[in-house]
Amino acid sequence: MSLELKKVKELNNILWLIKLRWIAAVCLIIAITAVKQIFNIPLHYFVIYGIALFLIFENVALLSLLKWKVKKDKINILSISNKIINAQISIDFLVLTAILHYTGGVENPFIIYYVFHMVLASILLNIVNTYLQTSFALILVGLLTFLEYFEIIPHYGLNGFIEPYLYKNGLYLIVTGFIFVTTSYLVVYLTNSVTWQLKKQKEEYIQANIQLKQKDIIKNEYILRLNHNIRVHLATILSNLNVVTTGVTGEIDEKLSKFINVAYSRTVQLADFVNDLLKLTKLRLDNKLEKQKFLFADVVKKVLDTVKDTADEKSISLTSSLDTSVGNFYGCRFSIEELLTNLLLNAVKFTPDKGKVEINVKDRAYNVLIEITDTGIGIPKGELEKIFDDFYRATNVKDNIDGTGVGLTIVKQIVNRHNGKIWVESEKSKGTKFSILLPKLNYKQI
Ligand code: ADP
Repeated sequence: MSLELKKVKELNNILWLIKLRWIAAVCLIIAITAVKQIFNIPLHYFVIYGIALFLIFENVALLSLLKWKVKKDKINILSISNKIINAQISIDFLVLTAILHYTGGVENPFIIYYVFHMVLASILLNIVNTYLQTSFALILVGLLTFLEYFEIIPHYGLNGFIEPYLYKNGLYLIVTGFIFVTTSYLVVYLTNSVTWQLKKQKEEYIQANIQLKQKDIIKNEYILRLNHNIRVHLATILSNLNVVTTGVTGEIDEKLSKFINVAYSRTVQLADFVNDLLKLTKLRLDNKLEKQKFLFADVVKKVLDTVKDTADEKSISLTSSLDTSVGNFYGCRFSIEELLTNLLLNAVKFTPDKGKVEINVKDRAYNVLIEITDTGIGIPKGELEKIFDDFYRATNVKDNIDGTGVGLTIVKQIVNRHNGKIWVESEKSKGTKFSILLPKLNYKQI
């Protein structure tokens, strides 16, 4: 687990205890008010309200400490989190004992609430600290019972609710004490075992994930090297074939020219495939894209210029609209160009002659919504999810339509890197609509 992740985890544990304490303080105020109003049991209500206020004060003090010391990195949370959690649980046990003392002592059935903190300790602390905290709680309860029994401190009974003088009944105290102690240790033991198992599984899962990521990097680096080698050879083959097809080496007969043209076009396809694979592998390997501020309209215009000729060749009408309020966008300009070009070229490629392709860019508060619609062959329903997979081409694509099946994988990668979303709607033989939602301010690393 990375250091940052560990810090966040420890901070969340502390915040979790604080959140539970807010709930406890509110519940205590409601419960004690209800007891006062409904049962009218004579108790030291102001002391108990005071204890609830102390819980609120404890939370405020802790939150201030976290805000000023930890968030501003004056203290490393990892070095103090264990102490803070231990201190919180110990203080809560003391508070619970104080509440118990003013509300019937060992006679109060709410004595069982100690178990909640024992479970929390099992989840948040190591085994030694958990048993120490549990023993501390049991000592506190034992001490309270002892002091009340021998009347060293007063006993505040729950008159009208629980039979008075139970705290003086030796047999009751022994049986209750036995049940309480065994329940506490059993709960802690069980919670500890489950938590330990879960922690072990999580650790294994994290390790497996790290290994998978490392293997993925090795695989991608391997593809990258392979790609470079193949590209060099392909460039040589293409330039040689080019020399032959342009007639520089002399006239070639029609039969031979047919074979050379097939070889040439297949080599071009292979070069396209290798290029796409190279782009994808680079995207997967590079953790950061270079981001900058640019006018979204400029990118759309450039992409339309690139695609226009291909659309004209098929007499496809290529239209666009852009909300003027879209303005500047913060992201990787080169990747956004690549993304839009891929989607528009696909739309043109999969749309029959004289069809329509349009791109609409809309302002959606904190996002830019891009919709690319065509009147093309569509995508079969069951395959909509698969088209973003590596090398996937839908079953309705004819063999004579060029393609590598990598374009949409690149598109998806780029969208993810900009913390965006992409989805597709399509009807076979009617057309397809790709929608992309990109956050305008990409503060996160892209
Ligand atoms: P290709 O090189 O085949 O275009 P892509 O990864 O770009 O590969 O697309 C994957 C598949 O998704 C395509 O082969 C096609 O089946 C489907 N597809 C993508 N865009 C469209 C579209 N506009 N209309 C119909 N099908 C599409």
